[in-house]
Amino acid sequence: AMRAIGPEELDRRVEAPTGQIEVTELAETINRMLERVERAHRALEAFTGDASHELRTPITHIRAQAQWAQDEGRTAAEMRESLGAIERELERTNKMVEDLLLIARGENGQLPVERRPFDLKHVATEVCDIGVAMSKSREVKISCVLEESLHVIGDPDRTRHVLFNLLSNAVRYTSEGEVSISLRREDRMGGVEVRDTGPGIDPDHAEKIFDRFYRVEASRSRAHGGAGLGLTIARLLAELQDGRIEVESHPGAGSTFTLWLPGANVGDEVHDSSTATAANLS
Ligand code: ADP
Repeated sequence: AMRAIGPEELDRRVEAPTGQIEVTELAETINRMLERVERAHRALEAFTGDASHELRTPITHIRAQAQWAQDEGRTAAEMRESLGAIERELERTNKMVEDLLLIARGENGQLPVERRPFDLKHVATEVCDIGVAMSKSREVKISCVLEESLHVIGDPDRTRHVLFNLLSNAVRYTSEGEVSISLRREDRMGGVEVRDTGPGIDPDHAEKIFDRFYRVEASRSRAHGGAGLGLTIARLLAELQDGRIEVESHPGAGSTFTLWLPGANVGDEVHDSSTATAANLS
C-alpha cells in the first residue's frame, strides 16, 4: 500500500525478496533515491539548526539590552547607549538574514546571474576604491595594480559582491600591513587576486572557512562583525558564474584569495597579453 515516508524513516531501504532482476533494479534505484533524499534532509536539518542558533544569539542580546534600558532609574544617556547597541545588533541581524536568503536562493537556482562579457579591471577598480575608504581608519595600506583590461564572462554585480567580501575580510583580519589587488590570467580564465599580509589561515581550517557560519576564531570574528557567511557567498556566487575561488594561505604569512572567471575572447588576445600581465604583477 502507498503511504508517506516520514523524515524519521529515511534510513529505511527497499528489499527485493523475489530476486527478479527488474524488481531488484527498481529497488536499487529507489534506494539510491532515498539515499539522496536522506542526505539532503540531513543537510537541511544541520542548516536550520545552525541558522536558528545564529539568529537566537542576537535576539537574546537585543532583548537583554531592551530590558536593561527599562530598569528603574536609567538615565537618558544610558538609554541612548542601549538603543545604539540595539541598533547595531539589529543591523548585523538584518545583514545575516539577507545573506541567508541570498544563499538559499542561490542554492535553489533562484538567483538571477548574468552571463555577459565585462571588464574585470573596472569592477576590481570600484572595489579597490571602497577598500581604500574602508582602510582609512586602520593601519592597512591598500595597493591596486589594475592597469590592463581583462575581459571575462559573468555578472559584474555578483562579481563586485564576491570581491567586496574577499577584500573586506582581508582588511578586517589584517590589523597592520598591506592588502593588494591585482589581475591574473591563466589558461582560459581571468582572475582577481586579493592578497593580504594578515594572520593567515591554518591548513586545518582552509576548506572549512567556506562553510556556512564557520569562523576560525568564533569570538574574535564576531567582534569583527562577521557571521561566517562571507566566504560561503563568495564561493556560491563564483560557482554560479562557472568560476571558482582559490585560496593560498600560510599561518603568519598572510592569505591570497583569487576569484577566477571564464575568460572572454578565448584565443590570441588573452594569450598575447599574459606576459605583460605577469610583468605587471612583479
Ligand atoms: P566572517 O564573517 O567571519 O568574516 P567569512 O565566511 O568571510 O566569515 O570567513 C570565514 C572565516 O575565515 C573568518 O571567520 C576568518 O576566521 C577566516 N578568514 C577569512 N578571510 C581571511 C583572511 N583574509 N585572513 C585570515 N582569516 C580569514
